[in-house]
Amino acid sequence: MDTHDCDVVVVGHGIAGLAAAVSALEAAASVAVLERAPREEAGGNTRWTEAFMRMKSPEAVADDFESHFAANAGAYLDPSLVAETARDYAAWPGIVKSHGFTDPELVGTLAAQAPPTLGWLQSLGIGFSPMATYLLTQSTTRIMPAGGGLQLVETLTAEAERRGAALHYETTARALLADAEGRPAGIRATRAGGATLAFRARAVVLACGGFEGNPEMLARYVGPRARHIRPVARGGYYNKGEGIAMGLAAGAAPAGDFTEFHAEPIDPRSGVPEPIVFCFPYGILVNALGERFVDEASRTVDAVYEAITRRINEQPQGIAWCLLDQRIEDVTGWRRSVRTDQPPVTAATLEDLAAQTGLPPEALRRTVAAYNAACRPGDFRPFELDGLGTHGLSPPKSNWARPIAAAPFLAYPITCANCFTFGGLKTDARARPRAAGATAPRPAGSRSPASGCSGSSRSTAGNRPQRRRDRPRSGSPAIAGRPAPRAAW
Ligand SMILES: Cc1cc2nc3c(=O)[nH]c(=O)nc-3n(C[C@H](O)[C@H](O)[C@H](O)COP(=O)(O)OP(=O)(O)OC[C@H]3O[C@@H](n4cnc5c(N)ncnc54)[C@H](O)[C@@H]3O)c2cc1C
Repeated sequence: MDTHDCDVVVVGHGIAGLAAAVSALEAAASVAVLERAPREEAGGNTRWTEAFMRMKSPEAVADDFESHFAANAGAYLDPSLVAETARDYAAWPGIVKSHGFTDPELVGTLAAQAPPTLGWLQSLGIGFSPMATYLLTQSTTRIMPAGGGLQLVETLTAEAERRGAALHYETTARALLADAEGRPAGIRATRAGGATLAFRARAVVLACGGFEGNPEMLARYVGPRARHIRPVARGGYYNKGEGIAMGLAAGAAPAGDFTEFHAEPIDPRSGVPEPIVFCFPYGILVNALGERFVDEASRTVDAVYEAITRRINEQPQGIAWCLLDQRIEDVTGWRRSVRTDQPPVTAATLEDLAAQTGLPPEALRRTVAAYNAACRPGDFRPFELDGLGTHGLSPPKSNWARPIAAAPFLAYPITCANCFTFGGLKTDARARPRAAGATAPRPAGSRSPASGCSGSSRSTAGNRPQRRRDRPRSGSPAIAGRPAPRAAW
């Protein structure tokens, strides 16, 4: 077997893995980075994201950053465990530290470390600014790196190479190597073509994403509805959950919500990255039976789209149609909220729209008539919650409700895509995995079951499914990635 020795072996080439690699290189460690994808596709989800970050500026997190996390702290938590968190963190029992709930210590670390981490990225040449997003109405502040996640990947890859990292593409981590006492001591990997390699290392960083690209794990954890779900972009197909499986097998505690994932509404006809359809608050959604099933506009689109996408996934065949009429043109720039490369189905009459979409014509006619009859005159203000809601309709539509009556009619099909999964490994604030079922704090200096874990491979949360922004995303993987190698050795 081909054997390589290094100080740190990093599994994964997204922002978490690259941040870990560059951080270790800055500390003069020798580093190997293993990446399943070929070089031109390396970077997992990071490569495809715009990487919006819930921040006011690179120096300040959004006002609701911590409270939003707290509001997602999981459903029906055990009050006896929650009570323990009122004590100083050092005094928490191990069973609480390893519990799969939103850990205030991690939330505090994320909030505190976000500005310095972005400062570090700026020092490497990344710029940040607020940008016009595809979210036409928003409930918080967001900034993004210029060039999005691809720029993060390219900049940090160049920095890792400049500092002498050994980058191994088309190399898939399969198992942890263990030393004589069973502690992690490296990674066994395979190259495309089947050759097996050993990377012996003083520290292992698992930064290889979630399990978006693993149908078996999706079926096991998410269940039968996973059959209608695909990764939102190509990078997700490379994330097959090996890091999580390795960590769990080695005794790390799980955290987060394994049954859920960040859901995005996409046009299933399209093969472009993230072909989202976010214009539905200005129209109505009907399922394959031609029936409405959800309030399309209870709040700003960023606050509701995930919950609505989950409801779409629950509908027959996991599909819905967004119906609009010609007055969508009153919403200046509405096309920014639609990223599919496929044109909407367009028709002069509802009957023709039904014929083209395969929706049952009589049910569609009834649904639109009932909706139109429930709309009331009022002031339509597309970029704020205008309160222009339906009356006496179930389910209601709470804002931007205007009759669908002005031809031509437009329709986009929408299915549920998986941006990233929510289950991962429990870590402490230095990205070290916690042991499952720990009953006492780990003795200072002792090794964790796997040495370090960051990005989507770990999770801070055990949350309610409706919310999204508290899971490891492109800002937090960088925050977790940086300390991971230093904490691990
Ligand atoms: C289209 C899209 C839009 C998004 N929008 C946002 C947003 O606006 N804001 C935000 O904060 N987040 C967003 N996200 C989420 C964000 O991109 C991720 O949370 C973040 O990039 C995860 O980084 P990571 O390094 O943990 O994982 P990834 O970037 O997924 O990297 C994991 C890497 O591990 C590699 N890998 C997997 N298994 C193995 C193995 N066994 N051996 C070797 N290599 C392996 C993969 O090939 C990949 O390179 C979005 C995601 C997508 C897909």
